[in-house]
Amino acid sequence: MNEHDSEKVAGVLLTRGYRQVERIDAADVILYNTCSIREKAAQKVYSRLGELRPVDGTRPGSASGLEPQERTGGRFKDRGQWRDRPIIGVLGCLAQQEGEQIFERAPWVSLVCGSASYRKLPQLIEELETGNRRVTGLETETDETFETEITRRDNPWRAYLTIIEGCDKACSYCVVPFTRGPERSRSSESVLREVRQLADAGYTEVQLLGQTVNSYADPSARRMRFSDLLVAAAEVPGIRRVRFTTSHPREFGKDIVEAIEAVPGICEHVHLPVQSGSTAVLRAMARTYTRDEYLAKIEMMRAAKREISITTDIIVGFPGETEKDFEETLSLLGVAQYDGAFSFKYSPRPNTPSLRMEDAIPEEEKSRRLAILIERQREIQRARNERLVGKAYEVLVEGKSRRESQWSGHTSSNRVMNFTSQREESLGDYVQVKVTGATPNSLVGERS
Ligand code: SAH
Ligand code: SF4
Repeated sequence: MNEHDSEKVAGVLLTRGYRQVERIDAADVILYNTCSIREKAAQKVYSRLGELRPVDGTRPGSASGLEPQERTGGRFKDRGQWRDRPIIGVLGCLAQQEGEQIFERAPWVSLVCGSASYRKLPQLIEELETGNRRVTGLETETDETFETEITRRDNPWRAYLTIIEGCDKACSYCVVPFTRGPERSRSSESVLREVRQLADAGYTEVQLLGQTVNSYADPSARRMRFSDLLVAAAEVPGIRRVRFTTSHPREFGKDIVEAIEAVPGICEHVHLPVQSGSTAVLRAMARTYTRDEYLAKIEMMRAAKREISITTDIIVGFPGETEKDFEETLSLLGVAQYDGAFSFKYSPRPNTPSLRMEDAIPEEEKSRRLAILIERQREIQRARNERLVGKAYEVLVEGKSRRESQWSGHTSSNRVMNFTSQREESLGDYVQVKVTGATPNSLVGERS
């Protein structure tokens, strides 16, 4: 979602006449899109901003007498007076979380804007261009979404598309409800219009995005359900694949599985974060479902007529997570048989309820649990991928390897397929590939 936000922000700049440069030292505007979901991501931002510290401190509005920094290597030294210095801005969740404190820690920054205020970006940039020293967009209370005339997309075949912004859940560990504001959906008409434009522009795959994408609630009179929107997007002429992420287990209904069963263009992949296999931990996380309720959703998907690939997110070392709780997560892996998992060590975040919870798990113990979990999941993925040897799948050709006759792409189930073909394939084509081998993270195949 952050990547896609950047694509939209780049679009805003393009409409204002900016163009992209290849090197940071040639830029007049430098915007960092930031993440604060875990502490590491947040720390990275300040170290990147440190690299942009001006050498002479003459910029108006900056604290006077900044000591010259050798590390910058004079990156901006030759750029003359302030006018010629780049506008430096911080966007995204860390911007929202830290607000004007960013100006204090990095006085060379002149724009701070959280994602819930992106619709104001064109105006904020204009204010900077007309001489304002510092501008902020920090409101989160909004029912508006960020829609742009132009989006500068990075991938020529797969287009991301936000259908719902913000989050109304209150998972006790998570900053997103504070940084991205309340849930608000785009109208189905606006979403489908963009899907048609994307198809006209040659995109064949769309990925519908939202923090809880299946909480989608069409604000227009059509009142389209999320599953109906998936079907309607897949029916747009030229669109071959529709993906969606991330689904919240609570609202994950049978209608979504039925849509996948009925419409081949809806990809056979669901990302359904579980976070923990222990009902006690899930309760402390305020995830609003139990282990058994979650597993019932998995069963529903496994019973579908199409084989649906299921992936998940897991947090280890949540405050109070006992060895027994952790073992329940490991046992859930065995039952759920995920095709992929992103696993994280719990990271305490500002404003979140879990920040004040007792029984923090020591860092080494978190690391130990994470390593065990990753290894267990790796073996599951290896076995699951090996089952596919001998079968054939449609692959979107996305890359050519430097090695002769080697290509790569994704299946509808979102597996990476590295395959051999004696033909000269065209990137962007959909081809049939037979699986000849498997690793935990990819398939090996031959063009059939
Ligand atoms: N809206 C999505 C994704 C949110 S962020 C969802 O609900 O699934 C992506 C993942 O980051 C989460 O699923 C969770 O596993 C992880 N995460 C969020 N906050 C975290 C924290 N404080 N510490 C560690 N991992 C966290
Ligand atoms: Fe965070 Fe929970 Fe919302 Fe996902 S559903 S963004 S984890 S609060």
